[in-house]
Amino acid sequence: MTISSFIPPQRTLMGPGPSDVSPRVLEALARPTIGHLDPEFIRMMEEMKTLLHYAFQTENALTLPVSAPGSAGMETCFVNLVEPGDKVVVCINGVFGGRMKQNVERCGATAVVVEDDWGNPVDIQKVEDALKQHPDTKIVAFVHAETSTGAQSDAEALVKLAHQHDCLAIVDAVTSLAGTPLKVDEWGIDAIYSGTQKCLSAPPGLSPVSFSERAAETIRNRKTAVQSWFLDLNLVMGYWGPAAKRAYHHTAPINNLYGLHEALVMLQEEGLENAWARHAYHHAALRAGIEAMGMGFVVDEAHRLPQLNAVTLPPGADDAEVRGRLLKDFSLEIGAGLGSLAGKVWRIGLMGHACNQRNVEFCLGALDTVLSEQKCDINAGVAVDAAQQFYANQPAAVKTA
Ligand SMILES: *Cc1c(COP(=O)(O)O)cnc(C)c1O
Repeated sequence: MTISSFIPPQRTLMGPGPSDVSPRVLEALARPTIGHLDPEFIRMMEEMKTLLHYAFQTENALTLPVSAPGSAGMETCFVNLVEPGDKVVVCINGVFGGRMKQNVERCGATAVVVEDDWGNPVDIQKVEDALKQHPDTKIVAFVHAETSTGAQSDAEALVKLAHQHDCLAIVDAVTSLAGTPLKVDEWGIDAIYSGTQKCLSAPPGLSPVSFSERAAETIRNRKTAVQSWFLDLNLVMGYWGPAAKRAYHHTAPINNLYGLHEALVMLQEEGLENAWARHAYHHAALRAGIEAMGMGFVVDEAHRLPQLNAVTLPPGADDAEVRGRLLKDFSLEIGAGLGSLAGKVWRIGLMGHACNQRNVEFCLGALDTVLSEQKCDINAGVAVDAAQQFYANQPAAVKTA
């Protein structure tokens, strides 16, 4: 048998990531591969750091894209900052907080878990109680935007609380970056990681990270070596540090970095505030359609992420069947529920390039068709109109698609 080229289907990606990648970014990925120490590549790396400073709203010198997906950014934060015997308060209100706990324990440290129900934000009072009970805590770790539930926690308040107790704060911003307000320096975040395939709309495989001077100092003064050779920032900085001293650490994913560079240029062109506003705007339109159908959201409005909508299944809906039909007949991907929400919710992403009017109307129309055919208990035939009504009433709110 001869295997020929792989041609993926054209999809509309409205799940929890990856999100639709813009043609501009796809084109950037296809540019010629050059050497990872080529002066032109090094120039691009310097621009990348400047662009990441803007996206994160930080001046942190230690800011770079880790050469692996968001999970590796998570691991980079933990293996560099946590040493055996340390105590870390880990907030768990969904899947990704649970992974933070595993990271802490694999570092030989103790995780003090603060748990909240899935769909709720992290309860600040509970974190404060844990910190009072464990005054020897070194770090507080939490997820800003829980992609498994669609809940956003108050990062600014949690970081402030951590600092009041002389702790560093590690923040997961994989889904929040470029989707909802995030201000690393203003909020004093010590260590942050994100991903490329959510609201930045670049392909997966890179994880932007940033560390405050205090966190960098903590890493330089470790008593033990970082157990991961690949993620040890003391070594990685030999490549991503000052341009004049750049030396081989690993071969950077050259073309993937072109893609991220282009996505960040696009973010800069749009403006962060405009990107945040665009996510809120199209979420409101999607919400109008979802609610017109008679469906609801898992998360209270006050803590709901615009870029990740956990929508409760209507009575009579067969989860896998609906998602299967959306993919097969509409080439539309939405996400399934995870953990305690499996089979109960759909996760509709409005991330980055995929967050636009066309997608909102397309997704509502497709859901309306499939749910009506399945004789689910919804108000049929009204969802798209409701979204269009919203757009007609708020025409000036956002200029970009
Ligand atoms: C997607 C995601 C991750 C993991 O990122 P990968 O790129 O899949 O490794 C971590 N945290 C959150 C909140 C995410 O949404």
